[in-house]
Amino acid sequence: MSFSLKPYNTFGLDVKARDGMVVRDFAMFPAAFDKIRKSSAGFIVLGHGSDVLFKGDYDGAVIVNRLMGVEFSEDANTHYVKAQAGETFHDLVALTMKKGIYGLENLALIPGTVGGAPVQNIGAYGVSLSDFCRYVEVLDLVTGKVDRIMGRDCGFGYRDSIFRIPENQARYIITAVELAIPKDWKPETSYAALRSRNLESPKEIFDFVCSMRKIKLPDPRVLGNAGSFFRNPVVSRETLAVIQKSFDNVPHYPAEGDPDMVKLAAGWLIDQAGCRGINLGTAGTYENQALVLVNYGGATPEDIVNAARHVQGRVEDAFGVRLDPEVRIYGEKGECQL
Ligand SMILES: Cc1cc2nc3c(=O)[nH]c(=O)nc-3n(C[C@H](O)[C@H](O)[C@H](O)COP(=O)(O)OP(=O)(O)OC[C@H]3O[C@@H](n4cnc5c(N)ncnc54)[C@H](O)[C@@H]3O)c2cc1C
Repeated sequence: MSFSLKPYNTFGLDVKARDGMVVRDFAMFPAAFDKIRKSSAGFIVLGHGSDVLFKGDYDGAVIVNRLMGVEFSEDANTHYVKAQAGETFHDLVALTMKKGIYGLENLALIPGTVGGAPVQNIGAYGVSLSDFCRYVEVLDLVTGKVDRIMGRDCGFGYRDSIFRIPENQARYIITAVELAIPKDWKPETSYAALRSRNLESPKEIFDFVCSMRKIKLPDPRVLGNAGSFFRNPVVSRETLAVIQKSFDNVPHYPAEGDPDMVKLAAGWLIDQAGCRGINLGTAGTYENQALVLVNYGGATPEDIVNAARHVQGRVEDAFGVRLDPEVRIYGEKGECQL
């Protein structure tokens, strides 16, 4: 194991990969492909590692994407912003704001790279990457060519896309994303936290979103974490009714595509199960947001896994609802279960 992953996972876990390299320009890809070919346990492309948990050392090759550059173009109605995959997503949001291109402000301060953004179709405060994604540019390891996958073909859903499918993980390296941002800016303030404020300009929304996120979420540079650890579970209306017998005001939302199912708020379930702000030694949940598992200092991968299982167990005991991880989990041989 020769490649330290400590700088490349925001949990700050001291884990290693058998091999790896940081790719800063296209000329470095042949050397990266060589490492991939030699690896018996496959490969993982990483951006900032803000959505991954390594359960231990990884026996394969890691390609860290640091392709940089942003290009702007426009037509009568639309700004087009093409960013290379290694750009920091928040820097892109801030740059568009500076240039008077508005629309991304609700996505401010989401950690990670531009290349990581389409993988789980990042979203916050009522806006998702898919609202703007014109195409994702990929290096296709099957054809050996650079290709464009149009936004409508990316299979975007709630924290989902075709790039999460294992075959595609082994096939595509995302090299750039082009966003199409309408010039006719309309504020997106339908999300409850924004609706009650009088936010009228993109700058006001940007500033509000940044201040909310700073209060609610731990800065990974200070407290290791990977954002929301679990997905919001989708349950039947019968399950909701059972929970409502014991709890008032259970937050729930319509589940996409199935009127008989509802989405529950995982953070609320964890909170009500008494797991907000718990510290099991070196790992636990964040005091201001129960959905975020944190490394309180010196946690091993096992400590994070134990904390996650503890939370899962407590929620299952309290509500009979199973929480599934939203973060991508990797073990010795590649992606795996918690
Ligand atoms: C404090 C905090 C708050 C967060 N808040 C939000 C939020 O509000 N909304 C939200 O949606 N997410 C949130 N996240 C999760 C995270 O920010 C996003 O998932 C982000 O897009 C991950 O980007 P990354 O570059 O760090 O990806 P990584 O964690 O490095 O990778 C994530 C996955 O994408 C794949 N991948 C990454 N880059 C490439 C590439 N170039 N080509 C192919 N595959 C690639 C990896 O293999 C991996 O499977 C939060 C995380 C943290 C730590």
